[in-house]
Amino acid sequence: MMRLVDVRLDDVVRLRKPHPCGANEWLVVRIGADIGLKCAFCGHRVLLPRSKFNKSFKEYIRRGAPSRPELPPA
Ligand SMILES: [Zn+2]
Repeated sequence: MMRLVDVRLDDVVRLRKPHPCGANEWLVVRIGADIGLKCAFCGHRVLLPRSKFNKSFKEYIRRGAPSRPELPPA
């Protein structure tokens, strides 16, 4: 069964396999059909299709701000 990861911009996540540079800490820089990740150590960027991201995801290190509806104008 496929797990759906609630991924947000600015989340920092750990994946099942570390990056070849040795770090395993990824900053989420893009949300869409593909998830954009940036290695927190070497700055390398990757794009993972969401289905692949769901499989690779291990845990959150830090959560980004929750998305919330726009406040009505004052
Ligand atoms: Zn790296």
